[in-house]
Formats: sequence, structure tokens, C-alpha cells
Amino acid sequence: MSISKDLELDNFRTQVREWCRAHVPVDWRTTQTGASDAAFVQFQKGWFAELHTAGFAVPHWPVEWGGGMSVAQQVVLYQELAAHDAPRLVLPFVSIHHAASTLLAAGSEEQRNRHLPAILEGEIWCQGFSEPGAGSDMAALSTTARKDGDNYVVNGQKLWASGAMHADWCLLLARTDPEAPQRRGISYFLMDMRSPGVDVRPIRQATGESHFCEIFLNDVVIPTSAMVGKENEGWRIAQETLGAERGMTMLELAERLGHGGFPWLVELCAERRVDGTRPLDDAAVVDRLATLEIEVTGLRALCAEFVGNDSPGQADASIVKLYYSELLQRMTDFGADIAGLGGQTKLRKPLSSGWESGSWVLDFIGSWEWTIPGGTSEIQRTIIGERGLGLPYEPRSSR
Ligand SMILES: Cc1cc2nc3c(=O)[nH]c(=O)nc-3n(C[C@H](O)[C@H](O)[C@H](O)COP(=O)(O)OP(=O)(O)OC[C@H]3O[C@@H](n4cnc5c(N)ncnc54)[C@H](O)[C@@H]3O)c2cc1C
Repeated sequence: MSISKDLELDNFRTQVREWCRAHVPVDWRTTQTGASDAAFVQFQKGWFAELHTAGFAVPHWPVEWGGGMSVAQQVVLYQELAAHDAPRLVLPFVSIHHAASTLLAAGSEEQRNRHLPAILEGEIWCQGFSEPGAGSDMAALSTTARKDGDNYVVNGQKLWASGAMHADWCLLLARTDPEAPQRRGISYFLMDMRSPGVDVRPIRQATGESHFCEIFLNDVVIPTSAMVGKENEGWRIAQETLGAERGMTMLELAERLGHGGFPWLVELCAERRVDGTRPLDDAAVVDRLATLEIEVTGLRALCAEFVGNDSPGQADASIVKLYYSELLQRMTDFGADIAGLGGQTKLRKPLSSGWESGSWVLDFIGSWEWTIPGGTSEIQRTIIGERGLGLPYEPRSSR
């Protein structure tokens, strides 16, 4: 990197740092612990608006839509946000990543003009891909969309839709041609969550929170203008959405591991226990920490390389997602182990945190979530094997 580029980046870091000092709400962990749903939504929208005003909300979007930061700048931004323990954008996560990348890659001009500015104003999205009989085997989805004049009429059930209880819009996959081979009969819709016939039911999780929902669809009318791409092209477009889930979103998460997660782990190991000893005095603990630090550094390098690559390979996003989610599991497992029985008493989570709630036990439970959405680890391994390493394809059901 040239000296002037270095200087530019240093200046940018100073700017972000000063902004963080002035704007990161220092008490958010306290106020968001045990907060109501309404308080969570209000806080997340407020925080998003603050970041947007500063130009920090959607750094990965193209410049004409309010983004345009280089990868190096995005890394700096996320490093500083993590170092200042800023809350994560949990509520608009699907809006700014999945919805935006889909609209930018495959949406019509009208759809982009309608929704991208609205997302910046706080419009919230969820993703309705999974169904009771279609998770990893997404092509098996059975929700139907029947053409009726200028509309489609949708019937079926979606499952595990993150944040659907707060969403204004949904990225919806439905079958438009039941006769076509599985992947060829699916279309991609933008569904208004306030449409009559949409029934959202939150699901309670092992941690006590309700992060995702079932969505029941009963004769929901969606205008043809809300279809993304052409009829029966939905499978290809859905790959774009999933690519965003596996790749771009990882940059911030990786930086948070390096600047929030790992130093916390070191702090935890340096704490004195009641018997006066510290975990850090144990050579095996130091060894484990050293391994994890190398892995976190490797992940951050991998993410920055992936995001900075104009033409990533078909399996690259899967490599990043697989590595991140399994490393997160190893780290939080180690944290929960070191926190011991005392860690079991700290089981309340600030709603605006992601995995980094401050409770190693809850974070370990939550870490398992990351190995499932966007394709489970087993599915990522298959993609890496087949598309990355060129291994023979595994037997498929009817496609
Ligand atoms: C926190 C979280 C958030 C989510 N958010 C959303 C969301 O917003 N929107 C949405 O649509 N969905 C969401 N999901 C759903 C998620 O995408 C699915 O759970 C996922 O695709 C797995 O599908 P499944 O649960 O049906 O498991 P299954 O597909 O039944 O898999 C069960 C097990 O079998 C393995 N398996 C299945 N097929 C194969 C194979 N061919 N080879 C090897 N192993 C295989 C899987 O890896 C897994 O271990 C979310 C899930 C979680 C946990």
C-alpha cells in the first residue's frame, strides 16, 4: 500500500474513532438487557439512523446508493466499532445485506428505487426461504404462487425466518411451476408483510429469546411487479442472496472476533479465581489461546481477501462462512469452559448484541446457530468439495 493510501486510511481511522467516542451509546448493554421488543426495535432503528447520518451504515453498498467504501476502509470501520463496543445492527441485518444484494444484482430499477432508499430510512426485511420440508434441500420447497391476472396468490408455510415479527417486507421463494424440475419451477418475490393472509408466529429458543418465526401464508396476493427477475428464475437469484449471507456479512463478524471476542477471552483467562490462581498460569490455556489467536488472524485475512476479490470462486463464500462459524464455536466453547460454573450465573443477554452478549455460556449456545443458516456446515463442505475442489458430485434427489 502506498504512503498516501496509508495516510488516507489513518485519517479515516481517526475520523471513525472520534465519531465512535462521541456517538456509541455507552450504556446500551444495560438498557438492552431485558428490554421489550418495542424498545429493541426503537433502539436498533435509532442506532442505524446514527450510523447512516455518518455514512457508516451501508459501507458495502455501491457509492451511488450511499456506500462505496474500499475493503480497507470497511475493515477499519468494523475494527473501530468493535473496539468501542458498539452495538451490532441486528435488526436491519437482512435488509442491508440479503435484500440489498438481491435488489442490486437482480431487482428492477423500480424495485431498487422503491426499496433501497426505504431501507436507509429504516425499512426492515426478513427472508422466507426455509420451510418444514425444505431447509438444506431448499429446492424441495412447496409454498405455491399461482398466477391470477396481474397478481400471484401465495399459499404455504415458511420457517425460521429471522426477525420476521418486526419485518416490513420479505424475500420470498415460492413454486410457480409444480410440473417443472424442482429448481426450475421456483420464483422470487418481494412480499409486503402487512398483506392480508400473512400470519407471523415467533418461535421460542433454548436461550429464552425469540429470534425467528414461522410465517403462514394463506391466499396472500402479491402483484407481478413484485417478482424479482422472471418467472421460474428464482433459484438462481436465491443463490445471490445466499452468497451475501455466506460472504460479505462475514467481514464485520470476523473483525468483531478479533477486536471484541478474542481480547475478552484473554481478559477472562487473566482473571484471578477464588483460589488465587489464574487460568493464564496454565500452559495448556496459553497454548489454546495462541492457537485461537492464529485462527482469528487467519479468518480476518481470509474475509478481507474474499470481500476484496472482484471474482471470487464459487466455493469461496462457503469457506469463509464455514471457517467463521466453526471458529466461533471453538472460541465460545473455550470461553464457557474457562468461565466455569460462575459463568452459569450470568445468563441475561442484551438484545442488541449478536453472539457477543458478554455471557460465554449463552454465546456458546448461540454459536451453534451460525453453523446452520445460509447452509449448514455439512452443506458448505459439500459445496467446497464439489465446486471448489472439483470432487465428484454427491448423488442428488430429483432436480
Ligand atoms: C439462527 C438461524 C436463523 C435462520 N434464519 C433464517 C431466515 O431468516 N430465513 C430462512 O429462510 N431460513 C432461516 N434459517 C433456516 C436455515 O436456513 C435452515 O435451518 C437450514 O437451511 C437447515 O435446514 P433444516 O433446518 O431444515 O435442516 P435439514 O436440512 O433437515 O438438515 C438436518 C441435518 O442434516 C444435514 N444434511 C441435510 N442434507 C444433507 C446433505 N445433502 N449432505 C450432508 N448433510 C446433510 C444438515 O447439514 C443438518 O446437519 C435460520 C436458521 C437458524 C438456525
